[in-house]
Amino acid sequence: MRLFRFGTTDNERPGVVLPSGANIDVSAFGQDYDETFFATDGLQRLAEWLEVNAENCPTVPGSVRKASCIKRPSKIVCVGLNYAKHAAETNAPIPAEPILFFKATTALVGPDDNVVIPKRSEKTDWEVELAIIIGKKATYVSKEEAFDYIAGYALHNDYSERAFQLERGGQWVKGKSADTFAPLGPVLVTKDEIPNPNSLPLWLRLNGELLQDSNTDDMIFDVPTLVSYISQFMTLLPGDVISTGTPAGVGLGFNPPRYLKPGDVVELGIEGLGVQKQTAVAYTE
Ligand code: ZN
Repeated sequence: MRLFRFGTTDNERPGVVLPSGANIDVSAFGQDYDETFFATDGLQRLAEWLEVNAENCPTVPGSVRKASCIKRPSKIVCVGLNYAKHAAETNAPIPAEPILFFKATTALVGPDDNVVIPKRSEKTDWEVELAIIIGKKATYVSKEEAFDYIAGYALHNDYSERAFQLERGGQWVKGKSADTFAPLGPVLVTKDEIPNPNSLPLWLRLNGELLQDSNTDDMIFDVPTLVSYISQFMTLLPGDVISTGTPAGVGLGFNPPRYLKPGDVVELGIEGLGVQKQTAVAYTE
């Protein structure tokens, strides 16, 4: 199943992409894609509901804004330096264990919303990433059972302000959490449709120029390893997001570095998970 959300930021609603490709409004199902939805077998209930009701659901026009493909979750856990060439371009050693950091959930936006360059930012950067959406509460999960805890996957751009992240002291969270720094979607694709998340091409273009071009098979720590590993340190709740790290080709890795300026267009994609397109704009009061 392919789930999306749509509408204005103050009135986002759930939708489903039918196998025919039609985008339908499933507001009448009565539940948004949040923790309760995933925790109460929502994917299965929605599939059954669609068998009876899909034909009566209104179509969502392509012109309507796409929102984050899930409602704001309890947390977004990110993995740092999970591709060897990316670690090298940032002059960091290959990590012995996954590096974890958080991203504020208020950073979530739709896949094609503008990315707002934060106030006083000079180093706003891009990171195409595979995001895992958790399907059920996960505490001390083994690698072998990790897939049981996954609902599906989505495309994520882990926007990063490098000065806030690396030059202002302390944790990376400051550079990862500005509003609009987490475009997620366009769709959550359930895991049954992505047989091998550890072998997906992913790419990112800046103003048409291909800057990131890799495959999730280059990840140092793979999908089941990450779910298991993170669950040793915290409980993952249904709907939580794990962003699995970015390959080489971020702005920080260039000499001299390249960062976003207003008007820049960022396009990215992962095979099977769709594409995103953001235009950079300056922060305004
Ligand atoms: Zn990242």
